[in-house]
Formats: sequence, C-alpha cells, structure tokens
Amino acid sequence: MIFPDYHLHSDFSADCVTNINDIIKSAKDKALSSICITDHYDMDFPVLPENPDIRFELDYQHYYPTLSELRNSLLPDFDLRIGIELGITAENISHVTEFAKSHKEYDFFIASSHLVDNMDPYYPSYFEEKTEIEAYRRYFETILFNVTHFKDYNVYGHLDYILRYGPNKANNFSIKDYQDIFEEIFKIMVYDGKGIEINTGSLYKNMAFPHPHADILKLYKAAGGEIITVGSDAHFPEHIGYGFDVARTILLEQGFKYYTTFSLQKPTFIPIV
Ligand SMILES: [Zn+2]
Ligand SMILES: [Zn+2]
Repeated sequence: MIFPDYHLHSDFSADCVTNINDIIKSAKDKALSSICITDHYDMDFPVLPENPDIRFELDYQHYYPTLSELRNSLLPDFDLRIGIELGITAENISHVTEFAKSHKEYDFFIASSHLVDNMDPYYPSYFEEKTEIEAYRRYFETILFNVTHFKDYNVYGHLDYILRYGPNKANNFSIKDYQDIFEEIFKIMVYDGKGIEINTGSLYKNMAFPHPHADILKLYKAAGGEIITVGSDAHFPEHIGYGFDVARTILLEQGFKYYTTFSLQKPTFIPIV
C-alpha cells in the first residue's frame, strides 16, 4: 500500500535544503503518483534564546506560484497538491486565521504545535522544572486551546510530537495520564469535521511508532473521527513514503477503512487496501 505522502518539506521551509524537483524525482522513483508538499509557516515565531536566528516564515508569494507551475508541468502523470504546515500558537491564531481565510487556493492545511508557551520543546530547557507528565500535558493542553480557537485547517499534525523530546520519550507513556485532554480535543475536532495525520517521521527519529500513539488514534476513532492523512514529514528525499506499511497496519488494526486526500481543502475518502 502506497499512500500519497501528505506531509513533505522543501527548501521553502527554513529547516530544509531539499529542492522540490528532487522530491518529485524521489516520489516517482517510489511509485507515488501524488504527493502534497506542506512547507512550514510558523507566523510570529518568537526569538528563542537557544537559536535566536531561526524563523519559520514562508515566502508564500513565491511558494504557491512555483508549486502551481510545477503542478501544471507534471500533469497528467503526477498529481501535485499544494499545502502548508501552519504552526499554531495562542499568540498567532488571529494572524493565521486571517491568512488561511484569504488563501483558499491551497489544497491542504496541517495545523501543528511546535511551541509550548513560546518555548520549543526541541530544546531541553522546556522540560526543566516540570515532571514529564506535566510537560506532556501542557503540550496537549495547547492543542486543546488551538482546536478550540482555530478552525481553518484540515488535519492536526503529529499530535504527540512532544514524545520525541521528553527525557524518556514515550517509554513511560500511558494514555490514562492524558485521556481527559484528548477526549476534549477530539470532541471538538470531530464536531468541526477535522482530521488527524499519521506521521511516520518518528520512525526515522528512533521512535517505535508513528505519531500519534495507537491509544490516541483509538480515542479519535471512538469520538467518531474518520479523516486520516498519512505523511512522512520528510525533509530529505530518502524519507518520502517512509514507514507507510507500518501506518497501514496500524490504521487497519484500529478499524480505519479509508484514508483521505484533499483538493482545495475538500476531502476524498479512499479505501485502505
Ligand atoms: Zn511539524
Ligand atoms: Zn513537518
């Protein structure tokens, strides 16, 4: 089973040097006939003491036209979709909402949490003076805040991304420590018709399972959630489509029968075979 890869970065992302043409070539080599590129746009990214020079702005005035021209040149053999991974924080929600509402030309928006209280959990300082459970709960609470106040997205990205960075990663993860928050998150998301992604990026970052943990996926299903995209979060061509066989097995085990693609933010449901 080869899913269209719905989470990919190119050199339009501040943390990626991969040329778009190399992404297309790798996707074709892996027999993918459709992908969605989702470069980073984290508006109003704070100045971080650990890395004061990094910003995740997106040059969207060149991004969409470049990808659109490429899309036209690849048709009809290859179906390129154009998306953005929008980094959401309590502080930038009004700006992101304004942007998303005025850019309906995009096929797909992933909403992602990369920051907690203006700290990047990629850096160990986030975990200082918190228990691991407190640190993880605070991350999930920010997702709850975001899905309550931000509605202009299609799927929420890598829901348990924080597990990559904790002192013990997912070794002590137990859903009972977080279930109350996820039930609230999914009640809102399912009511709003929003999806989640299976993000296999964790698998090449030394974790044992894709985001999110199967117990989180189970809660989304139990809440009535049916919208699932599959993405590798590749920043290098070799990771495109990585671990999609694992994603397929997990989705089928959890009772999902369809995966989802998006065109102009309208979902299409395709049977998982
Ligand atoms: Zn991300
Ligand atoms: Zn990403």
